[in-house]
Amino acid sequence: MIPSNCTFCGLCCTLTVKLSDNDIKRIEKTGCGREEFVEFNKEGEPILKRENGWCTFFKRDGKIGICSIYDSRPEACRDFPGKRHCDLAENPIYKYMSDNDENKRIRLLLKNAPTSKMPEEKINKALEVANKTFNRIS
Ligand code: SF4
Ligand code: SF4
Repeated sequence: MIPSNCTFCGLCCTLTVKLSDNDIKRIEKTGCGREEFVEFNKEGEPILKRENGWCTFFKRDGKIGICSIYDSRPEACRDFPGKRHCDLAENPIYKYMSDNDENKRIRLLLKNAPTSKMPEEKINKALEVANKTFNRIS
């Protein structure tokens, strides 16, 4: 479920995403070989590959995050954040990020991520931009 304050910032596309067998098979049907998008965590479980901090399927169009396999995305992406409001940007991990290149890319997305202090007009504006972007590219 897309949260009501989603600004389509794409910050959630920097998180670790575990993959089920069904996720992998579904994504392979888009024409991607599993070696292109699967890597393994320390426990040996399959996770989505990331490049410089972003999911390999993530693209950015202006301020809007685009999933290039949206219809085939993993279940975990469909379910995120699992509640009506997204508060990912308020997670303390983002306060203490070091200044490497990967984190610079994450900060780019953070700028457009909703927080409890973000005015409603800004969220509505982000939604408007997202709608225009999705109409243009679909
Ligand atoms: S981090 Fe939250 S606001 Fe940003 S795209 Fe993901 S769900 Fe939407
Ligand atoms: S598969 Fe799509 S929705 Fe999931 S993390 Fe990657 S870009 Fe984001």
